[in-house]
Amino acid sequence: MQDRIYNFAAGPSTLPLEVLQEIQQEMLNYDGSGMSVMEMSHRSKMYLNVFEETKNTLRRVMNIPENYEILFLHGGATGQFSMVPLNLGKTGKADYIVTGNFAKKAAQEAAKFIDVNIAYDGKANNFTLIPKQEELNLSVDADYVHICANNTIYGTEWRDYPETGDIPLVADMSSDILSKPVDVSKFGLIYAGAQKNMGIAGLAVVIARQDLLESHRDNIPVLMEYNTMVKNDSMYNTPATFSIYVLGKVVKWIESLGGLKAMEERNRRKAALLYDYLDNSTFYRALADKSARSLMNVTFRTPSEELDALFVKQSSAAGLSNLKGHRVAGGLRASIYNAMSYEGVKALVDFMKEFEKENG
Ligand code: PMP
Repeated sequence: MQDRIYNFAAGPSTLPLEVLQEIQQEMLNYDGSGMSVMEMSHRSKMYLNVFEETKNTLRRVMNIPENYEILFLHGGATGQFSMVPLNLGKTGKADYIVTGNFAKKAAQEAAKFIDVNIAYDGKANNFTLIPKQEELNLSVDADYVHICANNTIYGTEWRDYPETGDIPLVADMSSDILSKPVDVSKFGLIYAGAQKNMGIAGLAVVIARQDLLESHRDNIPVLMEYNTMVKNDSMYNTPATFSIYVLGKVVKWIESLGGLKAMEERNRRKAALLYDYLDNSTFYRALADKSARSLMNVTFRTPSEELDALFVKQSSAAGLSNLKGHRVAGGLRASIYNAMSYEGVKALVDFMKEFEKENG
C-alpha cells in the first residue's frame, strides 16, 4: 500500500489494513444482502448477528466473566465521565486518582453530581508518574474508585492497578484497552471510547459487573442509565451500528493474531524499540518516568520548541503523521496502538536518527 502513511495520531487513529480491506470489500453488498451494514436496520436479523458476534468475540478476547455486561453506548468516553457518577455514586461519594488531563476531567464532571475525593493528584510531578499504593489517600466508604488506565496525553500507564478491597474499581481504558491481557474481575466497571484500539469514533464500550448496574435514582436521563441499556441490550435507541461492526472486525483481527497476549508482546517490542532509542540519545528526552511509561503513547522532546516544530513538519513530509504532542503537554508524541506496525515504529526511529544527525 504505497500511498498509505504511518499515522501516529492519538485517536481517531490508524486501523489494521486487513480490517479496512475487509470493510471495503463488504461495503456495497454485505454478505449477499445487497446493501452495506450502514444501510441496515439495527433490528434486522442480519445486523443482530453482527452485533451478537461482536459482543461474543469481545467477551472471548478479553475473557470477560459471565456476570459482566457489555454495553455499546453513545457519547464517547466523556459520556462515561457523567454516567459513572450518576449510576454508581449510590451514596454520593467517590475517590478519583488524577494522573492526567482526562482523569481530571472525569473528576470535575463527577463533582457536579457527587462528592469527589481526589485521592492523588499528579500535577506536582507534571503527570510523569503513576502513584504507588501508599501514596493514595483512599476513603473507606467511597462508592467507587476511578482511575484512568493509560494517560493518552502524558504517556503514562498503570501497570499494577490500585488495591481497593470491596470498593469497585472503575477504569477509563480508552487508550489501552485490548493492548494487553487484563483481569476484568478486578474491576467494577471498565469503559473506553472506541476510536483508538477498538476501531472508530461514535461508540463507547462499557464492561460492568451486573450487580452494580441497578438504578438507585429515578432522574437519570434515559440514555445515561445503565439499567435501561442493559434491559434493552444497548438498543433503547439506534446504536452506533457501523462502529460496532468495525469493532467486531478489530477483535477478530486481534484473535487471529493470537489474542491479547500476542498483542502485548507486539506492543512491548514496538515500545522498546522507541524507548531504547530515546534512552540512548542525548538529543531527545522521553517525558514519562521509566516506571510509568505507556506502551501506547510515547511522549518525548527535542532540545527546543523550535526543533519540536521542525520535527513535526519534516516527519509529516516524510510520511510519518500526527507526531505533535497534545496542546496541554507540548513536545512530541507517538501513539503506537495495536494497529501500528513494528515497521512503522522502525521508520519513525530511522527518521529520528536522521533528524538528530542534522540538528544535533
Ligand atoms: N479518556 C481518555 C483516556 C482519552 O484518551 C480520551 C480521548 N482521547 C477521552 C477520555 C475522551 O474520549 P471521547 O473523545 O471519546 O469522549
